[in-house]
Amino acid sequence: MTDQRYVEPAFEDVLSTVEFRVAERPHITVDTEVCRSCTTQACVYACPADLFVPTSDGGILFNYEQCFECGTCYQICDGQGAISWSYPDGGYGVVFRKG
Ligand code: SF4
Ligand code: SF4
Repeated sequence: MTDQRYVEPAFEDVLSTVEFRVAERPHITVDTEVCRSCTTQACVYACPADLFVPTSDGGILFNYEQCFECGTCYQICDGQGAISWSYPDGGYGVVFRKG
């Protein structure tokens, strides 16, 4: 009998199944001034693509490239108005998922 337990794939393997086309216009923008007073920085832990990086001065660096468009950051952010979220323009962002 074979063992069929689910093994979570490595993040690098998940990332390799997605192709991105980076748009010139960011589909997510972050008001880093709001982030400076954020006590949780929940986005850092919630983003599956690790796109929110805390800085030593209490701020956040954000890069919209390789965003999965899952919307988690927008849902979890407790900083009023910190994140402006939309889908990328047509033909950009996640353009192909393999598997
Ligand atoms: S949770 Fe929102 S306000 Fe807090 S650091 Fe992340 S983006 Fe900024
Ligand atoms: S939409 Fe998802 S993948 Fe994109 S920045 Fe937010 S949490 Fe990360």
